[in-house]
Formats: sequence, structure tokens, C-alpha cells
Amino acid sequence: MSGCLNLVSVGPGYSEHLTEAAQLALRQSNLIVSYELYLTWIMFYIAGKEVLTTPLTQERERAEAAVSAAREGRTVSLVSSGDIGIYAMAALVFEIMKEHDTFAVKVLPGVTAANSCASILGSPLSHDFATLSLSDLLCPFQWIEERARAIASADLCCVLYNVQSERRQDGVYRILDILLSGKSGETLCGVVKNAYRPGQKSYITSLAQLKKQKFDMLTTIIIGNRFTQKKRDWIFTPRGYGSWPGAVEQELEAPPKHAVWVFSGTSDGNEAARQIAESGRRIVVSVAGEYGAVVGKASLAGAHFVSGRLGVEQRKELMKNSSCRAIVDATHPYADKISSQLRVLSEQLCIPYVRLERECKLHEKDVILCDTAEEAAVKAINLGKRIFLATGSKEIETYLQAAGAENCQWFLRLIPDFEMMARAVNLGIPPDRICAMQGPFSQVFNEALWRNWQIDCVISKDSGTAGGAEAKLKAAQALGIPLVVIKRPGVAEFSSKTSLKYSSTTFGQDIISSLSQLGV
Ligand code: SAH
Repeated sequence: MSGCLNLVSVGPGYSEHLTEAAQLALRQSNLIVSYELYLTWIMFYIAGKEVLTTPLTQERERAEAAVSAAREGRTVSLVSSGDIGIYAMAALVFEIMKEHDTFAVKVLPGVTAANSCASILGSPLSHDFATLSLSDLLCPFQWIEERARAIASADLCCVLYNVQSERRQDGVYRILDILLSGKSGETLCGVVKNAYRPGQKSYITSLAQLKKQKFDMLTTIIIGNRFTQKKRDWIFTPRGYGSWPGAVEQELEAPPKHAVWVFSGTSDGNEAARQIAESGRRIVVSVAGEYGAVVGKASLAGAHFVSGRLGVEQRKELMKNSSCRAIVDATHPYADKISSQLRVLSEQLCIPYVRLERECKLHEKDVILCDTAEEAAVKAINLGKRIFLATGSKEIETYLQAAGAENCQWFLRLIPDFEMMARAVNLGIPPDRICAMQGPFSQVFNEALWRNWQIDCVISKDSGTAGGAEAKLKAAQALGIPLVVIKRPGVAEFSSKTSLKYSSTTFGQDIISSLSQLGV
């Protein structure tokens, strides 16, 4: 006699969301193994049957009991709420089961908290999404944080399970902070407690507001993405249908063939692109953000733009299919990741690579040079209380989390990009300490701003003349305040690269003659 082990999902609560297949499996079983609470929802299907219950925490005991019963030839249902394959018992059964076991196994799917809670809120998970359990009972919290970072950087919609318990109070707020580092504080979210059970409660809020709430283990949080919208009492995430700004337009329009690809996003990059186009060469301008595209398009009317952070593979495909002739790397001196990628790409596609290298303008005698943002933070905190970040918004966390940072007032200048501004505010820089403006800035402007804000230390990068490095140095010297500078990152040596250290006067000729020499 061979037994049968049914792994039965009972859905979120009331039996209205119990599938017919699950009902049948319960009816056919002569032993039910379950956590007590679930029994009340399935009592119609298990009347008169033998029932084995253990406390919620004793999952292994329940799984082992179910497996042993099936080995003895019994037909047994092991019951989990929601879906038994999602943060539940099914995997444990597969771990316990032996290769030589002969009993039948049936996995009965069910409605998981993600989609039951989503249905109460509207349709927030209509496109890609991730789920993340915040319980560190079975998984180290660092992993949960790492996954949250990936979700944040991809701006994925996500569902948080096992949000907060008596024992785990802080974790959820740490995860919300991580999500806020990549997602806007305005992102629409929903909180659902006891979906389709007695005591059901739900509300819609924003990601920033979520940080002020308390939760429990009967609650699920759903976090939208930048497209998630509110209508009446509902939230929904559109699937696109051609209306996503940027992305779709870019997919449809193929870049021109045999073009020189200029990787820009900087004022001198746009100037390089303009001069290459004027020399009669076809160009494609690639910029990382939407804001870069807006600025670039203003000075390069008619050029083909590729904007948004393409993955390495997608970029390679686009360049290969359009027979790209050469790469001109005019990205920011601190954008070392993209520079490394472009060098590899030039080798893979066997095309010339020209790096536009801004001259280093700052020297040890004038400024305090540091290797990393961490080191700069420590130095600056020792030098002043009102610290101005002229470093862009990328490493704000590093500064704000440095020892003693809470005793300082941090001021920030960044480009007027909505997402970057929202991120800065969410990370704790108040709006009245943010200057959102397109650089480069003159000495006079820097002096006025720093004097007005009574800045007593500036942290900057050596972004060359085009990035306003000299103007910052002169302003700091005029005001007698220290300038802490993070050194440029070293990009690994690359044998076949052509590096142009240009001066502003010979800029145009340098790049054109270099392309000609390379046969482009
Ligand atoms: N297997 C279950 C998940 C178990 S993990 C499923 O697929 O749904 C337990 C977590 O699921 C809870 O902490 C809560 O975050 C979520 N959850 C389960 N049922 C829920 C319900 N009815 N309402 C809200 N959240 C629920």
C-alpha cells in the first residue's frame, strides 16, 4: 500500500479562496497535519478526520509527522496558509523526503499573501515584482538587506512578508531606508492586515510615510514602483501599453548605422559630440539619466540619443547591430564602472576606444586629498559643523552614516533631477539645505552660496575644469575654508586605449584628429 502526501495550500483565510483541487485533497485524506488556526477555515472538509496540530514554530515536527504518515501508507494533507510553496512548508518536506521514498506527492497551489493583499489594494503587482520576507529566522539579515538593495536599484514593485514581530522591531525600518535609497519617497504603497480573514484592515500610503507606521506578523506590505498610481480608493501599476516614458520609445527606434558612439552626460561630452557631428561623422549620444538626455538634446538637436541605464548585454547588442564605428568615452571622471565596461566592450566588438580625460586640477598643497568618501567624511567632520557636499548625490549615505555625522549640518548641491532630489530628502537632507542646479559653477557663485550658508568645510571631487574644480578651489581659498577632495578612481590599465588629456583650447581638433588617426 503506498501513501500519498498532499501539500495543501488553503489561501489567505476564509474558504472562498480555497481551490477545488485543495478541497478534494482534504476530503480524500485520512490525516490532517496543520497549525491550529488554519483548521477553522477548512473545517467543512475535514469533519471526522484525524488531526495533528503543533504550535506554529514547530514546522519541522509537522513536516516530519506528515512524511512518516505517508511512508506508512496513509493519505495525509499537510496544510499551509496562502501558498504552501511560498515561505511555507513545501520546501521543508522536500528536504526531509528521501530519494528512495515511494509515496505520491501532490502540491496544491493557493492564493498567496502577495496576490490576496494586492487584490484588496487594486492592482499594484501588474508588472514585474519581487517578494521579500523580513524574517531572519532562516536567512541572515544581511542577505535580506542585499536583496532589498537590488529591489531598490531596479525600482521593482515588491511585497514584504513577515514584516514585524514582537522580537524583530527594527528590521523593517532598515529595509524601508534601503528601499528609499533607490525608490522615491512618494512611491505608493499599501498595507494589508488579515486579508480575507476576520479583522481585515488596509490602507494606502507613501514609502516615506511607511516609516512612521507599526506593523505585525499578520500584515503584508506592497510597495509600488515609479509608475504606480492612485485612482479612487485603489492603487495600480500600469503594464505599459506604450505609455512608459523613455523606455519604449528607445526600443522602437534603432540607432543609426556606422555611428561614433559618444558616452556623455557631461558638458564637455556634449561638446565633443557636437564637434564630431560637425566633422561629418554620424553620432549616437548615450547618457545615463533622463535629465542628461534633456540637457544633451538642447545642445545637440537632431542627434540620436540612447538614455537610461542599459544593461551591459543590451548595450552590446545595440552597438553590434548598428555597426558602431568607435567609442568616445566622455563620461564623468568618477564614473569608473561605465568606463571599465566600455573598454571591455571595445575589445569585444574590435572597435577603437577614445577616452576624454579631463586634466587633474587639484594638488596636495592646496586641498586635503582623500582616497575614499569614507575618509573624506571623517576629515570633514573633524574640520567643521556645516559641511557642503559638492560631490553629487551618489554617496550621501556614506557621509550621513559616518561617526559624528549627526552633530553636523549637511548641505548638498546636485543636478535638478527629481529622483535625486527626492532621494536626498528621504535620506535626511532637508530641502532648505539643497541647491538643485545645473553646473558648472563660477568662483563668484560658489563664494556667494557658501558664505550665505556659512559653510565651514567643502567636500568635492577633482572633476577638472569642465566640472568646475578650479572655481571651487578659488572660492574656498577666498573664504578661507578647507576643501576636502576625493581622488579620482583608477580604471584598470587597458592596453589599446587612446587617452586624450585635452586642454580647453585644443579640445575640438584633438578629438577629431585622434579619430582620424584611428581610421574612424
Ligand atoms: N505561505 C504564506 C506566507 C507565509 S509567511 C502565503 O503564501 O501567503 C507569513 C506572512 O505572510 C505573514 O507574516 C504576512 O506577512 C503574510 N500573510 C499571510 N497571510 C496573510 C493575510 N491573510 N493577510 C495579510 N498578510 C498575510
